[in-house]
Amino acid sequence: MAKKNENDTMDKLVSLCKRRGYIFQSSEIYGGLTSCWDYGPLGAELKRNLKNYWWDAMTNRRDDIEGLDAAILMHPEVWHTSGHVAEFNDPMVDCRTCKARFRADQLDQVRCPNKPSKSPVENNCDLTEVKQFNLMFKTFMGPVEDSSSTIYLRPETAQGIYVNFLNVKNSSRQKIPFGIAQIGKAFRNEITPGNFIFRTREFEQMEMQFFVHPSEDEKWFEYWREQRWAWYRSLGLNMDKLRWHEHGPDELAHYAKAAYDIEYEYPFGWQELEGVHNRTDFDLGRHQEATGKDMGYKDERFEEKFVPYIIETSAGCDRTLLTLLCDAYDEVEIKGEKRVFLRLSPKVAPIKAAVFPLVKKDGMPEFAEKVYQSLKKQFKVFYDVSGAVGRRYARMDEAGTPYCITVDGQTLEDETMTLRDRDTMEQTRMKAPEIVEFLEQKCR
Ligand code: ATP
Repeated sequence: MAKKNENDTMDKLVSLCKRRGYIFQSSEIYGGLTSCWDYGPLGAELKRNLKNYWWDAMTNRRDDIEGLDAAILMHPEVWHTSGHVAEFNDPMVDCRTCKARFRADQLDQVRCPNKPSKSPVENNCDLTEVKQFNLMFKTFMGPVEDSSSTIYLRPETAQGIYVNFLNVKNSSRQKIPFGIAQIGKAFRNEITPGNFIFRTREFEQMEMQFFVHPSEDEKWFEYWREQRWAWYRSLGLNMDKLRWHEHGPDELAHYAKAAYDIEYEYPFGWQELEGVHNRTDFDLGRHQEATGKDMGYKDERFEEKFVPYIIETSAGCDRTLLTLLCDAYDEVEIKGEKRVFLRLSPKVAPIKAAVFPLVKKDGMPEFAEKVYQSLKKQFKVFYDVSGAVGRRYARMDEAGTPYCITVDGQTLEDETMTLRDRDTMEQTRMKAPEIVEFLEQKCR
């Protein structure tokens, strides 16, 4: 259960995100829509950088993974075949007194609306029997609204990959082992969304499905666990706050041979960030059975045709973004003043550098403006002339900008500027070409 100061951290983060333009409540001027969030100017930039960083690691830097962008709306039969219509349920209970609805397996993580200091169990709430609640959003396709036109908003991006396995294999001429990567929106009608963007009803996933020979599944499972762990390390996260959680027999999906979650220690506790799963030949096998399309694979290296096993890496984009924000949030007291720093990695930070003239005279703004215009062609940079330079630094520290470049009196003599590092606060004098080289090295 979240302690008071843990809630404080989340409250502070939510308020920083609003103040600095990272994340806003959806439809806020109408009173907000529960569990939906909008990414503001800096949030949209951070999210784009994060997705590019994942996409780059998963596709551009590899020869054995292809990208895909499948539609959100799919043939409804897909969700019958995958088991989602029958089984994508969460256990739910209602409170007879306050009429609130809770996930039966997470009662210790929620509060009773009538007594917010207690969970429904601690408050001895009058709960109903457990019912199963299907998490898929339904809608209708076409002008007639009846059961024959019912379709679903996809609850995961993975199925778009499975149903395109043959298309991608045939058009790319990849040979097993190979993977298909996709980033896209998914929708789940969660019973108890919450913790800011941690659990929402509309979210984005970054999923990769790797197709392997059944005899090599364990090797590739270990390989992808290592790769995904290394990816989080490369994002500069505090690795003491990450851990593996192995699914025990009671948690393991019936088709999965093995499953591990990467968990992060959020201010509200350890929770899943990404899942790495050995899904066996379940998915392709089911689609083969339902459609009659041959999902079997054969090339000269194998004696017999086989339905590939799938190793899946499934990460939430919004949840990774929340992880980055929680990990980066820092408060420091400087000369009696509490200052907030968002220590995001330069690789994903929305603004890579801010350019300031020290004062608004002596040709400094003109020089700084030129530097800004030239850097802008390669990096997301920000120009600021307003207020004391200390305040401008503070604003950038809070917005997560890793570097500030200041044009001062000496610049006009030798063309060097100070480059200030957000985290060490050290200032180094550099000329424009050195700054470009420096930013290229740190931010790419
Ligand atoms: P949980 O047990 O938390 O409901 P899950 O095990 O159902 O999650 P998966 O189906 O494995 O999650 O989804 C893969 C990833 O997608 C999760 O690790 C998470 O990062 C992200 N994700 C899943 N549901 C949500 C959600 N409601 N909001 C935000 N991200 C989500």
